[in-house]
Amino acid sequence: MGRRMAPALGGGLAVTIRLPAGKRLAVCLSPDFDAQSVWMGTFRAQSQSLMSRGEFGAEVGTPRLLRLFRRYDIVTTWCIPTHTMQTFPHAVAAVVGDGHEVAAHGVYHEYIPVLDLAEERRLLELQVKQHVRLLGRRFSQIWASIGTRPSWGATSSRTGRA
Ligand SMILES: [Zn+2]
Repeated sequence: MGRRMAPALGGGLAVTIRLPAGKRLAVCLSPDFDAQSVWMGTFRAQSQSLMSRGEFGAEVGTPRLLRLFRRYDIVTTWCIPTHTMQTFPHAVAAVVGDGHEVAAHGVYHEYIPVLDLAEERRLLELQVKQHVRLLGRRFSQIWASIGTRPSWGATSSRTGRA
């Protein structure tokens, strides 16, 4: 059984990567730092056990990953919903402080295919504003031309217009 790939926005983009001398392969690591937003936003669930999992990710998982990346001198791109950025600012500051990128990953880990164009556009604009307010800059360009890796990796037929 083959793996389904999400269609590239804008008909696909060619990205040129300059590798260090002698290297022939690059790997992109982009942790999802969803915390509680994935449970509340995507699954519409708010049980204490699920909220606890989200908090564990922020308070324990994130520092563990940062130590691991530091040990191997790996720079990554973290996909973080803005709900998580507001809820765990100290953890996001640690990510940024270690030199990692932050890519947009929704406001509350919303499931984009069910949104209408106006709501999708409103949430994307809100993400831009929140990234500038919280990080002092727009998010990194990781997903095609719109600078976001949508929560669930799911886009809509309207995403290119949003
Ligand atoms: Zn996610």
